[in-house]
Amino acid sequence: MSKLYFRYGTMGSTKTLNLLTTAYNFEERNINFICLKPSVDNRDGADIIKSRVGIERKCEVVKPDTNVFELIRNKNYTLMEDKFLKIEWVLVDEAQFFTEKQIDQLAKAVDILDINIMCYGLRTDFQSHLFPGSQRLFELADNIEEVKASCSCGRKTSINARIDADGNVITTGEQVLIGGNDKYIAMCRKCWYKRIQESKNPKLF
Ligand SMILES: [Zn+2]
Repeated sequence: MSKLYFRYGTMGSTKTLNLLTTAYNFEERNINFICLKPSVDNRDGADIIKSRVGIERKCEVVKPDTNVFELIRNKNYTLMEDKFLKIEWVLVDEAQFFTEKQIDQLAKAVDILDINIMCYGLRTDFQSHLFPGSQRLFELADNIEEVKASCSCGRKTSINARIDADGNVITTGEQVLIGGNDKYIAMCRKCWYKRIQESKNPKLF
């Protein structure tokens, strides 16, 4: 039986590397798969999934209004027509940026098309709240596992802290801010609170 998988972690965990390693293994074993990522994340060019260690591969880009079920069904249909084969796996990067509706469409693809779907993504935003896509994945996924990483203090990272140009932790602003000058650093909750208290920004807390 096919399943919807969710592998979550902070930034700087090895989620994307895991995805690319899995894709490589599928290729070696002749398993048919496609890779998807949401268009909101355009850091590495339009249709490329890239890990910090430098490995990359092409992928399908999914816009917020794309019906992901239809997209997967059409890709599957084309493969069946061309080669009498079906898609066995879909690998999804940055799944937190999918809409709730799109996560529902992924679940539908698992059940109706009998395709395994592995989603990688962030659990929470810079304010420690769930992304809508991640929330829906926690609600619907058949199999959920954390991709762990270590904070500089040695504890497990759980917060994607937003840092301004002066190195202060920011706790207000838009949930999704891509292309700005702010940076993100993954840290544990205890270090996050400490950094907020040390921050010179008077609006914090
Ligand atoms: Zn820490």
